[in-house]
Amino acid sequence: MTPTLSQLHEYRTATDAPLFSGLPGDVAVSFEFFPPKSEAMERQLWDAVTQLKPLEPAFVSVTYGAGGSTRERTHATVARIIAEARLPAAAHLTCVAASKDEIRAVAERYWEAGVRHIVALRGDAGEPGAPFTPHPDGYANAAELVAGLKAIAPFDISVAAYPETHPDAASPEADIDNLKRKLDAGASRAITQFFFSAETFFRFRDACAAAGIAAPILPGILPVTNVAQARKFASACGAAIPAWMDGLFEGLDEKPAARQLVAATIAAELCRRLYAGGVRDFHFYTLNRPELAYAICHLLGKRPQNSDKATETPA
Ligand SMILES: Cc1cc2nc3c(=O)[nH]c(=O)nc-3n(C[C@H](O)[C@H](O)[C@H](O)COP(=O)(O)OP(=O)(O)OC[C@H]3O[C@@H](n4cnc5c(N)ncnc54)[C@H](O)[C@@H]3O)c2cc1C
Repeated sequence: MTPTLSQLHEYRTATDAPLFSGLPGDVAVSFEFFPPKSEAMERQLWDAVTQLKPLEPAFVSVTYGAGGSTRERTHATVARIIAEARLPAAAHLTCVAASKDEIRAVAERYWEAGVRHIVALRGDAGEPGAPFTPHPDGYANAAELVAGLKAIAPFDISVAAYPETHPDAASPEADIDNLKRKLDAGASRAITQFFFSAETFFRFRDACAAAGIAAPILPGILPVTNVAQARKFASACGAAIPAWMDGLFEGLDEKPAARQLVAATIAAELCRRLYAGGVRDFHFYTLNRPELAYAICHLLGKRPQNSDKATETPA
């Protein structure tokens, strides 16, 4: 893609110091949470929701544990965010270990609870990287799930995308064809797996455009504070942790505060480069902690809005 004049201006601004000055905050942000397992985690999640709500996210989303293990907790969390925080909340839903009838029941319950946005995923069977075996009466992949959900109710649907190619894909082109199938089946946007180079995202965005994909592609931003943990997770899900990141975290194992600062710096720089390349939508993997996402949004010029929508105090 040839950069526009305003992008060239942005590139120039991004290379002049100070890097983040004067950004107008013309970005839309969304935040991903996972369903809490204990009361303490529930308080932590609610603290994160409360802190991030004033940034008026376009939506927040709640993940679905492997094999549907968090079905009830995901439902309870999404329903609570909608009812008490009054934020548009999306529920993640996977095809794993569920028949089409079971998926229908879950989706109908969501619709009744006021959930209008689903992040539709295939999911993974068993250990990360193990081959996916569909339920005999279930959906074989996310594209089928999208079509199935659309037939149940007019949900707004997001799907997953992989700038560094999903490990199951025959080729990067086949992976993009699969993304197009999901969008053609009725999804309205894609959210990417995390990545650490803006160029990786730009190349992927260009390849999607060349394949005729016009839907928004939201970069998934993971502020990494623990490289070893991130590396373990990344290898199974089509993302690479660059070698330079090890160097930046070297010697900080016992220094959590410094690690946080380094994590925020790396993720903020990535977002600034994405912004310079025209990106205006950012999806943050918060891991239920608000600080890093909040700080990065702040640097991007996104500031709290006066909201008359109350966030009720947890019981
Ligand atoms: C933003 C985001 C959120 C996520 N949230 C969750 C979550 O909450 N819970 C969870 O368990 N997992 C989650 N995941 C992980 C996801 O479930 C895994 O990455 C899974 O392996 C693939 O899911 P998918 O929806 O991308 O699958 P699909 O789009 O179905 O594709 C998976 C792979 O199979 C290939 N493929 C699919 N159909 C065909 C076909 N007909 N022919 C040939 N190849 C095909 C695709 O090219 C791709 O390589 C998330 C991932 C992302 C990026």
